[in-house]
Amino acid sequence: MNDAAPRPSAGRPLNLNVRGLDVSATLAINERSRALMKEGRKVHRLGLGQSPFPVPEPVRRALSDHAHQKDYLPVRGLPELRAAVCGHLKRTQGLDYDPASILIGPGTKELMFLVQLCYYGDLVIPTPSWVSYAPQAQIIGRSIRWLPTRTETGLGVTPQALDALCRKDPDRPRLLILNSPSNPTGLAYEDGQLAEIAAVARRYGVLVLSDEIYGGVHFEGRHVSIARHYPEGTIISDGLSKWCGAGGWRLGAFAFPPQLKWLSDAMSVVASETYTSVSAPIQHAAVTAFSGGAEIDGYLDRSRRILAALAAFATERLTAAGAAMSAPKGGFYAFPDFSVHRDALAARGVTASEEFCERLLEEAGVATLPGTAFGRPEGEFSLRLAYVDFDGGPALDALSAPGAEADESFLRAHAPDTVAGLERLADWASG
Ligand code: GLU
Repeated sequence: MNDAAPRPSAGRPLNLNVRGLDVSATLAINERSRALMKEGRKVHRLGLGQSPFPVPEPVRRALSDHAHQKDYLPVRGLPELRAAVCGHLKRTQGLDYDPASILIGPGTKELMFLVQLCYYGDLVIPTPSWVSYAPQAQIIGRSIRWLPTRTETGLGVTPQALDALCRKDPDRPRLLILNSPSNPTGLAYEDGQLAEIAAVARRYGVLVLSDEIYGGVHFEGRHVSIARHYPEGTIISDGLSKWCGAGGWRLGAFAFPPQLKWLSDAMSVVASETYTSVSAPIQHAAVTAFSGGAEIDGYLDRSRRILAALAAFATERLTAAGAAMSAPKGGFYAFPDFSVHRDALAARGVTASEEFCERLLEEAGVATLPGTAFGRPEGEFSLRLAYVDFDGGPALDALSAPGAEADESFLRAHAPDTVAGLERLADWASG
């Protein structure tokens, strides 16, 4: 998959934890797709998970109004922004945080790396999980414990699986990353499930990193944080990349309970010695994003309706083609498993997950990522697709028209490459 990516040479004196790692799968597929398109090939770009929507207008305006801001900002972040993040958590989750307990970083990805660096404990993640959690642990030298999952429970964390792991060594320090809505499955945990997982985490003192980067694009607008059930042991992670369409702005925020002040202090020490502070104009603009308001609410409402319609279309088409998958409840991913076609695929010379995605790209022009990048077994024909290959600006405008519905003809008109990519995938896999 990563032909375009530079691979660290095994013969050089590289840190052993970095040796053998490739460029992150999400970024490599993006570069590969671009390279193929440059050669004149048609590519349906369902690989990288980037928001298709523009940054909301008031947030863009705030950025240009603050282009003159040039000074270094406090390591932990602009005070107004930290207050705005608290306001956002109060409005969306009813949770109270002190602005002093917020840490702003250059994307949540970097903050996740810092938390794994500063906290001494095993990383616990379900299979499948987002592509970068495990490599970050590997780079730092932490042990990784993959939690087994089942299709019937949406490939998510269950209290039983967490309990079974922790029971073997109850006092061991552990960091569970719980991502809801999930990348790669679109699973959004229900409140009751979160309460049960929280009870197990509390019993064993497991630190929970609640990755809520897709919280704003829960299709029904009812994202729930596990921090409501386990505030003292949860760090909330949120940012502008997904619900605010600003992945390239690189702005993330962590919210810590008072009990974990020592950890946020340690992370800010490392931040001060590495990235210093996040870009000043971006932090000023983020104040507007986290402050919300009617315009941003309308933008979110229309984004969710479009994404929900695409998720429903994908689920319908892919399950009709034999895929095992759960209907996504939020975010912009689906994680179908085509293992039912194992024999037919083997007859076409496809025997492993990566080969499946490679041939799909070569023969049908559809870029996706193999299940193996998310911790699934080699021989399973699962893949992750991001249904985002469209220009979300005109789609949002079209949905503002009176009486407009995000139905199939809307999707065909406003997300033609995504729809065609899903159809090509369904045909190719069952073909
Ligand atoms: N989170 C996005 C994805 O899973 C891309 C960004 C990244 O991996 O850094 O595709």
